[in-house]
Amino acid sequence: MSYSVSPIGFIRSCFKEKFAIPRQPQLAPAARGVLELLAPFDQGEAVQGLEQVSHVWLLFLFHQTLEDKPRLKVRPPRLGGNQSVGVFASRATHRPNGIGQSVVKLDRVEAGKLWLSGIDLLDETPVLDIKPYVPYADSVTDAYNRIADSAPSLIDVEWQEAAREQAHLHGLRLEQPLIELIEQCLAQDPRPAYQQPLPERSYGTRLWDVDVRWHYPLPGQIRVLEVVAAS
Ligand code: SAM
Repeated sequence: MSYSVSPIGFIRSCFKEKFAIPRQPQLAPAARGVLELLAPFDQGEAVQGLEQVSHVWLLFLFHQTLEDKPRLKVRPPRLGGNQSVGVFASRATHRPNGIGQSVVKLDRVEAGKLWLSGIDLLDETPVLDIKPYVPYADSVTDAYNRIADSAPSLIDVEWQEAAREQAHLHGLRLEQPLIELIEQCLAQDPRPAYQQPLPERSYGTRLWDVDVRWHYPLPGQIRVLEVVAAS
């Protein structure tokens, strides 16, 4: 038995690559995007009343990791990538039907467009549904999850002086909090937990239209090396 679903819109996100996207929403409040709704949901009446809501749930497709072969177990990065759990005990991207869910901040809503922040979605992510956050039902104060029991611990983010100035100028041009976005994402330490990178190894990702490069001068420390217009 199979059913078909269609996107109601697509995210235009600050994240142009999967690498360095936080593992859950809310971890990078400076991570912004716009959800552009498709007809007929681009008419104002579809979002009427949403201006009375601070956060929304997005149900979406992990469109870049969809797979046909169902897997029963996964190796979540936060367990170091070498310990496996059942796919339904994880929020892994490789999952049946490839459906993701994130609660994100709704900064502004207009007919056909929702401005969002604190997102963990890749650019062009297809969104299947939007649901208003209902605090009395959605926030379970006595809930626990012993696999993902707390937000990832943060590491220090330092800057090469020139890199910080580059980020400042690109942020002004983009009219985005780019320095905060870079610091919030890199503080989550995006590298795979099993890698112990040497200082001479650099990493990179694309945020908005800039390429960010960094390295690990010491274990547990990140230094941003450059922030340059994407080539
Ligand atoms: N909050 C969602 C959930 O719990 O279903 C997503 C959690 S998942 C661990 C978050 C990761 O999904 C991000 O770090 C990013 O690497 C990945 N991701 C985001 N959008 C994606 C997309 N459209 N396709 C594939 N992977 C995506």
